[in-house]
Amino acid sequence: MAEPQSLQAQPLMEHLRVFCKDIGPRPACSPEEQRAAEYVRGVLLRLGLSDVQEQRFKSNRTYGWQVTPALAATTAAPLAASAWCGRLGRLVAAALSLGGAMVLQEAVRARPPFFQSLIAAGESQNLFVTIPPTGETWRRVILVAHLDSNKQRFMLPMDNPYWQKPMTTTGLAIATVSGLHLLFSALFGRRRALPWWQYLAALTSLGFFAFVLRDEMQPYIEGANDNGSALAALLGIAEALRAEPLAHTGVTLLFTGCEEAGCTGMDAYLKRYAPPKLDTYFIDLDMVGAGNVCYATKHGVSLMTEYGPHPEMLAFAARAAVKRPDLQVAGKDMLTVDEQATIDRYGYRGLMISSYNQEGYLSNWHRVTDTLENIEPATLSRAARFTWALLGEIDQSPPPARVTSPGQVAATA
Ligand SMILES: [Zn+2]
Repeated sequence: MAEPQSLQAQPLMEHLRVFCKDIGPRPACSPEEQRAAEYVRGVLLRLGLSDVQEQRFKSNRTYGWQVTPALAATTAAPLAASAWCGRLGRLVAAALSLGGAMVLQEAVRARPPFFQSLIAAGESQNLFVTIPPTGETWRRVILVAHLDSNKQRFMLPMDNPYWQKPMTTTGLAIATVSGLHLLFSALFGRRRALPWWQYLAALTSLGFFAFVLRDEMQPYIEGANDNGSALAALLGIAEALRAEPLAHTGVTLLFTGCEEAGCTGMDAYLKRYAPPKLDTYFIDLDMVGAGNVCYATKHGVSLMTEYGPHPEMLAFAARAAVKRPDLQVAGKDMLTVDEQATIDRYGYRGLMISSYNQEGYLSNWHRVTDTLENIEPATLSRAARFTWALLGEIDQSPPPARVTSPGQVAATA
């Protein structure tokens, strides 16, 4: 079967060059992020997709705004408890500490904090367009790629990614234990000095706080792999779908803003449009431009915040991979936090397609070396073609029970 020309390396690399070199780093809520959205809109319009919709939303500009207040709270809590050692003081300290620990845990699973409206000082956009099937619509697939790029971040991932999960898990655990101890001592304890390890807990939080601040002062990256690669792949797929729409699957191409600021764009999209859960499937493309192509079988950067793809999506992906051995795609556990976290949290069926280097990690993730020069065109093309194969696999599956032939009772509640 002939594959669409638009999924070959060369046309994909032409799109990618625009994102990396003509536009460059694309901070969340920035004019450059908006320029990336305008380029996407222009390409879609040239393909005859005139019904491109835009959702504007408010967001924080960087991830640091979500986590530094929490780290400040977990640092200050034991100190507050020792300075103000009455029951009320310990209660306030416990609230600070447990609240901070909770926000941190949510932040590493891309859930905006309770104070999100206070930090949402920027404005961003999601762009989306739907390509209907040739026949009756049995289901919809939402293909996702984010428009923004991040700063260089030495805390995510650490230079040796092997230590990321143990470190993040330890940090979260220390904050939680410290908070629980403060609460316990406020409710049942006597007025006595805090144990030494509470000061160590404060020091740990302070260390994380300082490292996150250092990351906040890093330059923004070109974001060739993260996530110009996925933007290019989606544009190639848009062109392929125009020439060859699916039979029973409507495909929405969703270009999100602010993924790097805590997936606030995806959050805004799901909150506002709430597509039906029964027949909507998400395929998130993130960092599909270097090394080996995979679909993620596990996500997360701490043991306390792991999440995964939907089993049904996993089965589709496994079948597509087996049918296309030439693409050399397999399932793999990934060290990542991404929009699949939001998709999963809202209860949708989703899966992420990504790529990894020889060590098994995302290539150049959140490093200034994430440039066009470090993209492997063949990988990008394989990822786009695998996504195309996966779309075909989903399209060829039997209709969901809800839309069985007339007269039959819907089997799903
Ligand atoms: Zn990304």
